[in-house]
Amino acid sequence: MRVVVLGAAAGGGVPQWNCGCEVCRAARGEHPELRSTQTSVAISTDGDHWFLVNASPDLRQQLIATVQLHPRPGRLRHSPIAGVILTNGEVDAVTGLLSMREGSPFTIYAHAKVLEILKANSIFDVLNEKNVKRQVIELDRAFEPALPDGSASGLEILPFGVPGKIAWYLRDKTPPGDREGDGDTIGLRVRDKATGKYFYFIAACGEVTDELKTRIAGAPLVFFDGTVWRDDELIAAGLGTKTGQSMGHVAMSGNKGAIESLAGLDIDRKIFLHINNSNPALLAGSTERTMAERAGWQIAADGMEIVL
Ligand SMILES: [Zn+2]
Repeated sequence: MRVVVLGAAAGGGVPQWNCGCEVCRAARGEHPELRSTQTSVAISTDGDHWFLVNASPDLRQQLIATVQLHPRPGRLRHSPIAGVILTNGEVDAVTGLLSMREGSPFTIYAHAKVLEILKANSIFDVLNEKNVKRQVIELDRAFEPALPDGSASGLEILPFGVPGKIAWYLRDKTPPGDREGDGDTIGLRVRDKATGKYFYFIAACGEVTDELKTRIAGAPLVFFDGTVWRDDELIAAGLGTKTGQSMGHVAMSGNKGAIESLAGLDIDRKIFLHINNSNPALLAGSTERTMAERAGWQIAADGMEIVL
């Protein structure tokens, strides 16, 4: 199984269009290597057919940069992308779908709540349902996405609920009695059925619960929410008024932060993904970067490819 990180940044990317923070300024200037697009990964078991996890607003740029996702030579109309699995209905996760119009067939896999968001926004009708099928996925029910000809992909994907938050533009619309945020923040376990190798994709997580620890213990690879280094990072930097927690993101550092919470879980490879431009761990050589790396973590970068 191959996994390509199409984008490693949180919402806004690096640099963010309206941000003058240290990282964004460096990314525009002397450190272009800091530039990073918004979070998405591509997965394949055969190298020919690929599934995306989320379709970020930067998808078009990501597809241009990723040879594996180019149309095959000699084909006038073709894409190796067989499907897109959506883990939430936020702008960051769905707007790239709009760059996938033009008639190539693929399937969107998403929780019913996310499919409702697409249906309620008529702009997504550019994806004609004759070509672009929409399939409901359920929490705690593994599914095997299909190739465009209907054959098996060899991938088994298990969606599960992660403590998080509801999409901000729906926050006031939660029906009474609805379990808080159920289905709004989804983690995935992605398994190659032939080899049994698997990894976890958890790009948003508000809290590392004991249940989550038990689930991911012993995994060969975990991509984990690396939005902020410390909970009050945006406030301390004068960039905003929200804490990481209030945005549904546990901090990398600190008591009950991701580094501490995932220590000792016997995970072979831990990679922070969905990293906000305010996060000092993005800066090579920073104290924070060194601390994360000493704790056994990698910081994802666009284009990173992992073979499992
Ligand atoms: Zn910034």
